[in-house]
Amino acid sequence: MEFGRVKLRLDFSRIEDASLAIFLQCYPKPRSGLQEGGVKVLVAEDETISRRLLEKCLRAWGYEVLAVTNGTEAWESLRSIDSPRLAILDWVMPEMEGVDVCRRVRSQSDKPYTYLILLTARSEKQNLLEGMKAGADDYLGKPFDADELLARLQVGERILKMQDELIAARDLQHYQATHDTLTGVATRRAAMDFLTRELARAARENKPVGVVVADLDHFKHINDTYGHMAGDIVLQEAAKRMAESTRVYDCVGRFGGEEFLIIFPASNEELALRQAERIRKAIEATPVETREGGIRVTASFGVAASNGAGRDEMAELLRAADQALYRAKRKGRNRVEKASETAAQQTEASPRVV
Ligand SMILES: [Mg+2]
Repeated sequence: MEFGRVKLRLDFSRIEDASLAIFLQCYPKPRSGLQEGGVKVLVAEDETISRRLLEKCLRAWGYEVLAVTNGTEAWESLRSIDSPRLAILDWVMPEMEGVDVCRRVRSQSDKPYTYLILLTARSEKQNLLEGMKAGADDYLGKPFDADELLARLQVGERILKMQDELIAARDLQHYQATHDTLTGVATRRAAMDFLTRELARAARENKPVGVVVADLDHFKHINDTYGHMAGDIVLQEAAKRMAESTRVYDCVGRFGGEEFLIIFPASNEELALRQAERIRKAIEATPVETREGGIRVTASFGVAASNGAGRDEMAELLRAADQALYRAKRKGRNRVEKASETAAQQTEASPRVV
């Protein structure tokens, strides 16, 4: 650190409390542009003076400090919910060494990244490679230099910020890939993936899966009469009513155009039929409000269910639901039909081979 032109390097393990007070009056100064609330930093250091100095410096810079005196406490703090994302870990500490804390932190994959700075005495310098291999991001020699410490913490903050932005971008990309832009329900691809997973699970657990194909009635007429803007609002509202009428573990997907696929895990045909009926009523219940006025919307539904025989039946299941939907349309729309009845009718209609 510099006072005017004189560069001082303090051995913090030797200074007394009085010197500490003088030191802190001169340095450090609060840095500007600091975010509200401060970033939380863990300080794990068993030597009292060194720990207090670190604490005072960090607080003066606007960081929120959590100070502990041994490796076990450091690890407990870093594994907790809402753990600090920045940590300064002394290498030699009671109970667990800083380098072991690094290893443990890096072994937990379910947590956001933590930036780890190891504090090392000069004699431990040859072990630095070991420290970096254990997962430390940086190191700081003891006794520490305040300027150096601040610079390293700022690097750490920058890296954490970049990391968070990358994760947010990845999450957004994933969201966009799995959610239909207009309606916010699952995309066709995401709904198909969901169905593939559910059929595999159903086969394993010997449970049924209910599948409903829904199609808004006379949607082309709505578009032609009220315009595409109103058509979009109708689609959004219909999707919202579908989503609101289902359970959290069901899946509503937009299959394309005005067609939707709704998947009901652990539901047989009867159960899926009742769910579809509930959705049908929710859609017809009140007109959809648009700038062109209220538009009455109805939908037709085809219901089918797997018997838990396995994922190979996906295409067959969708075809069965589709045929039932076709029958609902033919019978006058705004109704629910089930695949088992299509099958029964086909059997009756087809000539018997004697
Ligand atoms: Mg120590």
